[in-house]
Amino acid sequence: MASAGTAVVETPLQENVQKGYTSNAAWKVKSWGSISNNNSVKCESTSFADVMSEQLANELQLDENYEMENPLQSETVFSNDSTLNEPVEWSKSNDTSNDEVLAQILQAQMDEEFNESVTRQENQVNKNSKVRLSFNNYRTDSLFTSDDNYDDEEEDEDVDETGREGCSEADQSSNMLEFPPDKGYVVFGNELVTKHDKEICGRRNTAKMEDSLPPGFRTGDARGMDLQLSNKIYNSLKKHAYSEQRRGQRLHETKEHYTAEHAVDERTRLLLHRLVDRGIVAGVNGVISIGKEAVVVHVDGGDVAAADLVPLVNENNNDISCKQIPKECAIKIYKTTLNEFRCRDKYIKDDYRFKDRFKKLNPRKIIHMWAEKEMHNLNRMNEAGIPCPEVVLLRKHVLVMAFIGENQQPAPKLKCAILSSLQKKSAYKQVVTMMKTLFNQCKLIHADLSEFNLLWHDQKVWMIDVSQSVEPSHPHGLEFLLRDCTNISKFFTSIGVPDVLEPLELFNSVSGLDIPITDEAEFRCTIERMENATEEHAQQGKRKSSQFLEQI
Ligand code: ADP
Ligand code: MN
Repeated sequence: MASAGTAVVETPLQENVQKGYTSNAAWKVKSWGSISNNNSVKCESTSFADVMSEQLANELQLDENYEMENPLQSETVFSNDSTLNEPVEWSKSNDTSNDEVLAQILQAQMDEEFNESVTRQENQVNKNSKVRLSFNNYRTDSLFTSDDNYDDEEEDEDVDETGREGCSEADQSSNMLEFPPDKGYVVFGNELVTKHDKEICGRRNTAKMEDSLPPGFRTGDARGMDLQLSNKIYNSLKKHAYSEQRRGQRLHETKEHYTAEHAVDERTRLLLHRLVDRGIVAGVNGVISIGKEAVVVHVDGGDVAAADLVPLVNENNNDISCKQIPKECAIKIYKTTLNEFRCRDKYIKDDYRFKDRFKKLNPRKIIHMWAEKEMHNLNRMNEAGIPCPEVVLLRKHVLVMAFIGENQQPAPKLKCAILSSLQKKSAYKQVVTMMKTLFNQCKLIHADLSEFNLLWHDQKVWMIDVSQSVEPSHPHGLEFLLRDCTNISKFFTSIGVPDVLEPLELFNSVSGLDIPITDEAEFRCTIERMENATEEHAQQGKRKSSQFLEQI
């Protein structure tokens, strides 16, 4: 299992990120393209005995000697030697042991031939002319002096020193020509080229600047002041603009990478390693989602017997361990930075189940509590028969659960699922039933319910993301419920389901409360009054909150 352990560390998580979208086929190819158990880098291990072996050292030495004597026959050596980037004078170099050097030698050879042909043409053009034209700009001597960092695709579009892209042929020649001080024109072949061409070309470059530079690059009002940009300046500006743009993009990518890495910090890696070592997880595949508070990863379930797992108990201490580890699992890793969680304190610090613990805990422990809260809520839902991921186990801030989807394809969110009108109707009915069961049986309010936290799989709606779910006795529980109802009503109305209940109607229907629906403001006031009364009750630690609500 040790090599599978390596897979955890080496999986390039950030490459397979689903950015909040599940059902798009293009995404599937892109973001899961590299998923496979083999996609991780496997390091060949060398045993300690091998490392210490004198015989091995001798063999390596012999190999090295052989390579030095037979440079062309030995394997390609990739060197970091910076001198390889320098121009090579092929005729003087005998070193052919490196592909890069060989390529440079060949290139130099071709360049020399090309330059010779330019010289021949130059001589031909100048033969009958009183003005000598320089073809230096056509020569390729500066081949290796280009900026190595400038690795762009836009290069082809650039106006080069000879003005290929920006100007007409006459303009091109105007850039190459040296105008005699006493004349404003020169003869180029059969054409007369004036200094004016250069000015026109300059103005044209200025005009083009606004369109050809990347969006957002500020150029000022260059047209307004009759600015003439030489091709050289135009090119440098364009180069600079694009390299700035790329730098910005890279910075953004680094940031994203950092965020992804942050959830999978050293401690988390260790936890994942242990899961692999213990046979709970067979291999880590790729990231399903990177959210603000958690990263969700797809893994293959391990082959350890469920009986060997630490038994999973619900809040009433009943063993609810899964019978078998599912073939495909999702691991939700809560981020161990508190930044994003701060604004969610209200969900947990007022939940009487966690209230006393919340005060005493350090930030890391509070995050563990989020994971624990999700686990308990999922367990309650499972017991009540609500389709949701079955919990496999919880380790600190890492929650292993069943994967909703198939063959590494996560089920689409309702928002993205493509449904027939019958399926839409059925989905609506399912969601309403689910909300009722959640409230009345599980004594929970989702508190972040929307088309983004409902998945469509196997003709069923699956409820996920319940770490913030609260009991109805929570001081803001009923407000959360009203928000959930509003989201659900809006969504199903927007996709054309007929007879969708209005949010207030849905609220009453789910909660079993019968608050008069006259106007919304009044409705909200009643809810708040109920919440205030309930808070007092919740502080006494009684759990039958909905019964209490019935008495109001
Ligand atoms: P967040 O707090 O980041 O919204 P979620 O629990 O909603 O966390 O998970 C984010 C996304 O990961 C979901 O929208 C869903 O696409 C995917 N996901 C989460 N859990 C599972 C699961 N058990 N099976 C399949 N996909 C899942
Ligand atoms: Mn979510």
